[in-house]
Amino acid sequence: MVTCNHSGALPANLTVMTSPEPASSRAPETEIEQKPLAIDFRAVSGHLADWFSDAARDLPWRQHRSGYHALVSEAMLQQTQVDRVLPAYLRFLERFPTIEALANAPEEAVMASWQGLGYYRRARNLQAAAVRILEDFGGEVPRTARELKTLPGVGRYTAGAVASIVFGERAAIVDGNVARVLARLAANHGRLGERTFDAWTWEQAELMANTARDPGVVNEALMELGALVCTRHAPDCERCPLQADCAGHAEGDPARIPEPRQAGPRKRIHLHVVLIGREGRVLLCRRPGRGLWAGMWEPPTVESDVILEPGQLIERLDAEVEMVHPVEETFEHRTTHRDVVFHVHQADVGEPGSKGEYLWHPLDALDEIGLSNPHLRLINRLREPGLSG
Ligand code: SF4
Repeated sequence: MVTCNHSGALPANLTVMTSPEPASSRAPETEIEQKPLAIDFRAVSGHLADWFSDAARDLPWRQHRSGYHALVSEAMLQQTQVDRVLPAYLRFLERFPTIEALANAPEEAVMASWQGLGYYRRARNLQAAAVRILEDFGGEVPRTARELKTLPGVGRYTAGAVASIVFGERAAIVDGNVARVLARLAANHGRLGERTFDAWTWEQAELMANTARDPGVVNEALMELGALVCTRHAPDCERCPLQADCAGHAEGDPARIPEPRQAGPRKRIHLHVVLIGREGRVLLCRRPGRGLWAGMWEPPTVESDVILEPGQLIERLDAEVEMVHPVEETFEHRTTHRDVVFHVHQADVGEPGSKGEYLWHPLDALDEIGLSNPHLRLINRLREPGLSG
């Protein structure tokens, strides 16, 4: 497929936000002793289960448990707040109520249904997983963590969550919330993201899952406790069912446990976007198939390491325009590893270029095509009176 020409762009080495950090780029490990948790696992898992039965939030994926629903909710909840996931989850299941519906849908429709959640690779992986489930598992979501991990986009955490919460397997899970609670229970001052600390959290989570009466309930309760009570900056120990077992609380300052993840170097890039409208439509071009917002749509754009003047922009743009006017709005969008600065321009007239895949898309149907949040925001400018060409 031919895609937009991003002059000066860096698609080849542009890593997607959800890509795991390569081991070689990890920060040097700190030497913190990884003490085992000195707790009665069975008693603690009992306290957790009791607390969870009273305190659990009433979330739609908890009302009807199924492997498919769990795969969808877990994919959406990675790196996204519950509040933003709720409407998207309901909308997604209405549009794709079954694995078959998702597997057979056009990719464009799946991307459009993911709008507002970001990290679109998750949507592609979820659809690829649905295809694999149809082809290799007879349309039934596999029930074990080992099999689940063979699905595209399903890692150790998601496999453990689905296997334990939906199918009752004694599989462990560790996400940021679980790691934090376990570290505080043991007063383990290790650093998130470091190999020895991460291995330690998985060992403790496995002990918890292996001794619990219902591993799914305890896994979910640990996550819920981290989300609602043992929060990152303000653990509410007075409301915590594990206070009597918690070495971090006994030490006196659990908010300092664990050490935060070490931030990697950030890159700054400039996206010069040119809005071109015509009769209620906007000219869009498909982004490259790899990297940031892979395969999604955007107005004609030039990507660079520096800010370009309008003349330089026209020279490097793969679209036919004679003049561009900078629009006052410039805004910054932070991704996991990048600061992306959007410079918004407008052209009164323009035609598609020759190198990319283009379309004129109706402005009143922007929710039917895969657009990132910042692109949606800036294209909406064209809906302002007098700007739609
Ligand atoms: S007692 Fe406090 S620090 Fe310990 S697990 Fe509970 S909320 Fe977290």
